[in-house]
Amino acid sequence: MKYNIEKINEIGKLLAEIVEEALAGEKKEEIRIADIEMEVRESLREVGRRTLQCYLENADREAEVTIACRCGGKMEYQRQRAATIWSVFGKMSYERAYYAGCGCGKGCASIDEQYGIEPGKVTAGLAQLLALSGIDKSFEEGQEWLKAFLLFEISENTIRAETQCLGELQRKAEEEWIQEMHNETALQKREQLVVQQVPDRLYGSMDAAKVRIEPRAKQGKKVEMQEDWRDMKIVCWYEGEFVPSNQRSVRQKKKAQREGTVFRAKNKHYSCDITEAEQFGKLLWASGCAVYADRVPELVFVCDGATWIWKLVSHYYPNAIQIVDWYHAEERLEQIAEEAFSDLEERQPWLEQITEALWHGNIEVVMEACQSLSQKSSVAKQALTYFSNNMERMRYAQFRASGYLIGSGVIESGCKQIVSRRLKLPGAQWNLDGAILTAKARCVWLSGHWQDLVSKRSLLPLAI
Ligand SMILES: [Zn+2]
Repeated sequence: MKYNIEKINEIGKLLAEIVEEALAGEKKEEIRIADIEMEVRESLREVGRRTLQCYLENADREAEVTIACRCGGKMEYQRQRAATIWSVFGKMSYERAYYAGCGCGKGCASIDEQYGIEPGKVTAGLAQLLALSGIDKSFEEGQEWLKAFLLFEISENTIRAETQCLGELQRKAEEEWIQEMHNETALQKREQLVVQQVPDRLYGSMDAAKVRIEPRAKQGKKVEMQEDWRDMKIVCWYEGEFVPSNQRSVRQKKKAQREGTVFRAKNKHYSCDITEAEQFGKLLWASGCAVYADRVPELVFVCDGATWIWKLVSHYYPNAIQIVDWYHAEERLEQIAEEAFSDLEERQPWLEQITEALWHGNIEVVMEACQSLSQKSSVAKQALTYFSNNMERMRYAQFRASGYLIGSGVIESGCKQIVSRRLKLPGAQWNLDGAILTAKARCVWLSGHWQDLVSKRSLLPLAI
């Protein structure tokens, strides 16, 4: 944006005078830069409100006598009518031409329609800041936090509403996307598109994390005070990237010693929902299409051993390479060792030997070891089923030779970021929709698509 520098300079000079007047009562030697800054911020906020008001009123100066109504009829000019909105500068009022008198009984202000203003509500610019706080902090904490930035107070409920409004927009977008990606004609059309940004290799990981949903009192029924824990299912799509040795963390250096190389994930895209596996599969498919999982030359799923996950992968992406997360598999061996050997001197060599076999993908050796312990260890007995069900997903030597990531750390950190760090904050209380919508909005932020979502918010059709 280009500004008229001379006019801006004039405003600066005027503001300096205003600030000086405001600080006139203070002892000069006690005034600090922070005091001046705060005075400037406060007065800029006033200027901002006044500017918005002037702009809107100027834009509305030449009122029409009649305008078209949405129903097809006509509305007539009634009078100048005041409206109030909350903008990033705070609460502000303005006067604008108001129209009514159509047979349908509706009334409107054309300036509000033109600029997408909903009287009594917040502007899109403020809404996105509120939502940004809402996906990161409890709504209660957000209120205090935002006040420090905005210099005025916004209610907890407004922050919640705007956060979940963005979540709702994302849910609608996903629903549309799901419909489109399950429509044969749309899919065929998509086939013909020439796409350049398909990576050579794409990864997918899924997992679930528990969220506590508040019990709800149904009308006329006794309140069930039982806690309701629901699974938030999450999928992450990402690409792998080699980490150069000078950029490795201590943990990554340790990893490199054993594994030779270290990869990290980039271009992460998250989607989530609290729903049954079957419905989640539709989101898996649609969100995958958005990153060309259906077209990528090599698709690799790295997940833990949950049955619902592999069922969905096999159904939607039958050609994908399936890998059980190395760390989950390794952990199984540790659990067995702990239960089967009380003697540390026996335990450690066994664990090292079997972990080595697992590392080389010799699952037959791992299974034999579990078999021989299954009499005295129930964990070993269960693990036997686990290893035999997932045998082909644990050929780690082969996977490493192909340069695949074998750990699902991405989705585990995703669960933490989406669920633990927001939905499980102290004092958090969620109804089902609130949890889903807040998490969906958070996923959009973590996937780097926040601005796309925000621009949809500013295009919301107005409820007249
Ligand atoms: Zn009408």
